[in-house]
Amino acid sequence: MSTPASTTRTRVAIVGGGPAGLMLSHLLHVAGIDSVVVDHRTVETIATTHRAGILEQDSVRLLTDTGVDGRVLTEGDRHGGIYLRFDGASHHIDFERLTGASVWLYPQTEVFVDLHRARVRDGGDVRFGVSDVAVRDVDTAPLVHYLDAEGRRHEITAEIVVGADGSRSICRDLVWQEGAGPGRGRFGRDYPFAWFGILCEAPKSAPELIYARSDHGFALISQRTEDVQRMYFQCDPGEDPQAWSDERIWDELQRRLAGTDGFELRTGPVIERTVLPFRSFVQTPLRRGRLLLAGDAGHTVPPTGAKGLNLALADVRVLAEVLELALLKGEEDALAGYTERALGRVWKAQHFSYWMTTMLHRSAESSDFDEQRQLGELATLVSSEAGSTYLAEGYTGWPS
Ligand SMILES: Cc1cc2nc3c(=O)[nH]c(=O)nc-3n(C[C@H](O)[C@H](O)[C@H](O)COP(=O)(O)OP(=O)(O)OC[C@H]3O[C@@H](n4cnc5c(N)ncnc54)[C@H](O)[C@@H]3O)c2cc1C
Repeated sequence: MSTPASTTRTRVAIVGGGPAGLMLSHLLHVAGIDSVVVDHRTVETIATTHRAGILEQDSVRLLTDTGVDGRVLTEGDRHGGIYLRFDGASHHIDFERLTGASVWLYPQTEVFVDLHRARVRDGGDVRFGVSDVAVRDVDTAPLVHYLDAEGRRHEITAEIVVGADGSRSICRDLVWQEGAGPGRGRFGRDYPFAWFGILCEAPKSAPELIYARSDHGFALISQRTEDVQRMYFQCDPGEDPQAWSDERIWDELQRRLAGTDGFELRTGPVIERTVLPFRSFVQTPLRRGRLLLAGDAGHTVPPTGAKGLNLALADVRVLAEVLELALLKGEEDALAGYTERALGRVWKAQHFSYWMTTMLHRSAESSDFDEQRQLGELATLVSSEAGSTYLAEGYTGWPS
């Protein structure tokens, strides 16, 4: 193999500079542990790719209390609840009254901008726009190498490598070892539907998110700014977003939000349209030797319930503690406890996301009985203090 253009020695090499990777790098910096982040996308691409938008209370605290940025509190929108809409009427689930907690609407693009700015401000070593990233020797002395924009090869040697490289992780396969074993497995579930997501120039239709179940399928009305909104509707996973005109998109959304309570969907030009397939997935363990997984690399959830980004941040909160014990105090056993500590929350979120998804979506296999049972479940939920509280606790996030 050719001599590398550079060799960097660091304590923690992080593959992936999304929310999990950058937040971990920031937390390690605060603890006095140096790290290097590599990502194959550019900063501009990540900062303009629209994804999640809801932050749990603990995620907000992580950004503000560890010194990333307080912008979420001034530019984010605090939401005290959500609306569940079915049978043509909306029902408010009041998180603040039920649990004393709330969530913040603050797009993932802004979270990324804040985290990236904080790493640059603090002199962090973050390398975006690289290619051909590979990880070797994860059981002993791990090594990450990649090509820069000029095609030169660079090496990073580290005590620990963290795979924070999202749902198409290359690190996940390196952690995976075939064969049965206690707590070992790949658990997944596919869904027969996807989300058609749009960004549109329109005023807000509601002050908080509306999760709608209709005979035509699921829809979600979310917000971004005063003039730009994010909306989704359930579609076939093979749908071609470009085949949908603005008119057809609005007709579909109107059908799913129609009602008798005077709700008005505010429309405008569609400026972005994508189809978002999703699945439920968990790989366990999240560690092999000196390689550990965080965020979507280890587990993914359907977006109903807004857990993906929050889980990624929750993982690295735990992982930063584990790495502090292992690297600063020599307590290597802490590495072995990471999977169990992280997956406790992950499985709660898996259940919550699955439950929200199946309660609100229609599938081709749904029978009349399933339809009526779904409506019965929603009616029970909004009329029961216990049911509403269960939803509020899950949506705002369980205590760390
Ligand atoms: C299209 C899309 C839309 C979504 N919408 C929502 C939503 O509406 N609501 C919601 O709650 N959640 C949503 N999610 C989920 C949420 O965005 C994720 O859960 C969250 O981004 C997880 O953060 P992460 O840091 O683990 O992974 P990511 O944000 O995916 O970050 C991983 C990073 O690793 C990099 N990377 C990947 N492979 C490599 C490699 N081989 N070498 C180097 N770098 C690599 C990527 O470029 C990326 O920057 C969406 C996800 C997707 C993909």
